[in-house]
Amino acid sequence: MITFEQHESEVRGYCRTFPAIFSSAKGAWMTDIEGRRYLDFFCGAGVLNYGHNPDRIKQALLAYLMRDGITHTLDMYSEAKQRFIERFYEVILQPRGLHYKFQFPGPTGTNAVEAALKLARKVTGREQVVGFTNAFHGMTLGALAVTGNGFKRAGAGVPLSNSAAVPFDGYLGADTDTLDYFEALLKDGGSGMDMPAAVIVETVQAEGGVNVASVQWLQRLRRITAEYGIVLIVDDIQVGCGRTGRFFSFEEAGIVPDIVTLSKSLSGYGLPLALVLIKPELDQWAPGEHNGTFRGHCPAFVTATAALQFWQNDALTQAVQKKGQQVEQRLQSMAERLSPGAQVRGRGLIWGIEFGDPLLAGRVSQACFERGLIIETAGIDDQVLKLLPSLTITEQELACGLDVIEDSLCAVLGVPATAHTPKAALAKAI
Ligand code: PLP
Repeated sequence: MITFEQHESEVRGYCRTFPAIFSSAKGAWMTDIEGRRYLDFFCGAGVLNYGHNPDRIKQALLAYLMRDGITHTLDMYSEAKQRFIERFYEVILQPRGLHYKFQFPGPTGTNAVEAALKLARKVTGREQVVGFTNAFHGMTLGALAVTGNGFKRAGAGVPLSNSAAVPFDGYLGADTDTLDYFEALLKDGGSGMDMPAAVIVETVQAEGGVNVASVQWLQRLRRITAEYGIVLIVDDIQVGCGRTGRFFSFEEAGIVPDIVTLSKSLSGYGLPLALVLIKPELDQWAPGEHNGTFRGHCPAFVTATAALQFWQNDALTQAVQKKGQQVEQRLQSMAERLSPGAQVRGRGLIWGIEFGDPLLAGRVSQACFERGLIIETAGIDDQVLKLLPSLTITEQELACGLDVIEDSLCAVLGVPATAHTPKAALAKAI
């Protein structure tokens, strides 16, 4: 640890929660330099939907590297990019009746968000972008301006402008449709809200505490934005690529966003790659108007193309739904027995449990780590324990991780652990 503590910036974060030096990983498991194994319920904050080093993707990457496939081309045409675009069109867009142009921005999520916001402003000639309470869209200035977290916003060091926050679904309680408020602001010339260029939304706010927008709310948001000529951007960076079951998280609502941002699990292997999907009529960029050195990393195109094999049928979607139910049932029963009043929220394989005591989630996460499970917290006060296992995790591994959560919760609450023996279960799964 000393190397990191001496030389790496104080800005480092996750390593403080999970103080181990990791060395290898496979499937749902990570191993540190001391040979200790950890079950991964974090998956790089949604980067590793297909698990660590999935074989079929690794083989494609190795073959590409071994034949000296080109690594870097700026945005010149490459075979790897061509194959990715063709396969993504065939496997993802065409079967869903979606028509989008592809923009490859810099490789991170925030790069994709910046490009989307810039384009929406250019196309509409308007400046303001509306984001939602507790949203998270990235750390660069444009993305940060539509991010809710006050601590992160303060880090900007300059005023964050040309944005407005309106309440997300459920923010004002279950009985209030928050879009009544947004629509009223748009209708009323005296509201003080400038007509926005865009609305940017996550269908499930992951970093913000696993807040799930309802299908009806998303459909209404689509209707309102269409009515006012506002570009609807769905940020599917964390909950796209199958995290909620289907490839895009907005599919369940049957809506078609104007722009979609993807990154994280897009490459399927942890290689950096981002994509902005743009309705053709909005693709009003001038050549080179938004550029950058790393726009489309060829090895990442290769792995992203291989990852599309998971989407040739609906087996993964079905598996995610089934495993999602397994998680929901276990969390609900844990909440009822051990922490009445705790809220369980989620879709597909992203789940959160918010306990009455906001400090509990962090303490449970720490206790889980001590027992060999990597699990993060989310929400403005880290008050939500967030489960983000890989989509390919086995039901047995999932059950082991849930046992560890229950055991850790019991330990933190000081109540006797339940009948199962998580440590033995973990050892068996290894
Ligand atoms: N958008 C969403 C919804 C995210 O969850 C994140 C990261 O967690 C980002 C954007 C930013 O992505 P990156 O950290 O790759 O810049």
